[in-house]
This record gives sequence, structure tokens and C-alpha cells, in this order.
Amino acid sequence: MPYVITEACVDVMDRSCLLQCPVDCIHEGVRMLYIDPGACIDCAACEPSCPQGAIHLDEAIPANLTKYVSVNAEFFGSDEFGPADPRTGCPAGDHPVVAGLAAR
Ligand code: SF4
Repeated sequence: MPYVITEACVDVMDRSCLLQCPVDCIHEGVRMLYIDPGACIDCAACEPSCPQGAIHLDEAIPANLTKYVSVNAEFFGSDEFGPADPRTGCPAGDHPVVAGLAAR
């Protein structure tokens, strides 16, 4: 039951959540942040810190944002989104769903 970052983060990337996460499982793409579902401990510390309201528990995510459950998971599960950042081991790009969104 990980937490999930959704579309309201795109092109905003406030980053307040990064300061709250005790296990450093939130990583930066180019246009939004992503939560690693395999590392999230469901502590909920990040959710209220987001001024955009972009973070939701996967089981309580609004129906129009359910695709972001897989968007977050796939960001960490594949190397198709760009070369890994040597510091974090995560892709440096964005998930195609995010990369394809119109600029905000
Ligand atoms: Fe990190 Fe807790 Fe948010 Fe999961 S719920 S991303 S562990 S702050």
C-alpha cells in the first residue's frame, strides 16, 4: 500500500516531500517526483507536506489518477526511461505518461 505521486506534481516539483521521507524513497524525474513502491514504508509523512495535494495512498487514489500507481512503479522497474542517475540509480527521465503531458 505505498503512497503515490500524481499529476499535480508535474512541472511544479515543490520537493517538500523529500524532506519528510525517512527512507529516501522519493526520487526526481525531469517533470515530477516519483515514490518507489518497493521502498515506501507507508508512513504518510509526505502526504500533508505537498502543497499541490499530489500525494495519495494507492488504495485511496482518486479514480481519475489511478494510472499513477503504475507510473510510479514503472519508473523504478525499468531502464527505458533514460540512463540511471549514478547517485540514485534511478532513471533521469520521466515515465512516458508524464513526458507526454502538455506543458503546464
Ligand atoms: Fe516516504 Fe513515508 Fe511518503 Fe512512503 S509514505 S514516500 S516512506 S514519506
